[in-house]
Amino acid sequence: MQILKDIFYIFFPNDCLGCDQALHQHESYLCTYCRHDLALTYFTNEKDNRLERSFYGRIKIKAATSLLYYEKHHMAQELIHLLKYKNQQQIGVFIGDWMGIELKNSPRFRDLDCIVPVPLHPNKLQSRGFNQLDEFGKRLSHHLEIPFMNKVLIKKTSSNSQTKKGRFARINNTAEIFTTQQEQALTNKHILLIDDVITTGATMEACYNALILIPGVTVSLVTMTCSKS
Ligand SMILES: [Zn+2]
Repeated sequence: MQILKDIFYIFFPNDCLGCDQALHQHESYLCTYCRHDLALTYFTNEKDNRLERSFYGRIKIKAATSLLYYEKHHMAQELIHLLKYKNQQQIGVFIGDWMGIELKNSPRFRDLDCIVPVPLHPNKLQSRGFNQLDEFGKRLSHHLEIPFMNKVLIKKTSSNSQTKKGRFARINNTAEIFTTQQEQALTNKHILLIDDVITTGATMEACYNALILIPGVTVSLVTMTCSKS
């Protein structure tokens, strides 16, 4: 069924990504019904929101937000799946525009200098052909008028072999596999670190720990989605 759905989208791009119904003229990407299936977090203007509190005692981020809650079998999960595994990069544009406008209007995210995505391992980038954060990052860059720097963070080793190990082993390994380049351009900058989904926060923590080695760097976080618990 998924293959049919994908083919359907190629020929009918003006249909809803969620339910394949034709979109009305005022609708884009998702129909009104499917949009109502998205659960917004409303974190962007909330200081000490639940996402920020989840990093207390771990890393010192300036501000953090997610646009949507990521719940199994809900529309947000479907969108991330289509974006990552079905090459539907217009979803990155859709969420990037939505989030970008929200951030631009928020006093909490006003003094950012650049946008840095969580990188894929080069092997994965080659097999997938794109980083699912590319369009999201470019749209945020457009709205916030700051550069999207997708060569700053480097993932050193593939974490595929770690999936059978315990949770702590995974976290410890993840913490060691990011490094940076272009450090001079980032000195004293306020970096907006972006990702698609945040669950335990271990990946963001590992990226933060690599970025914070650059003198004077401060970090804020934005993700498309975050888990509800
Ligand atoms: Zn729909």
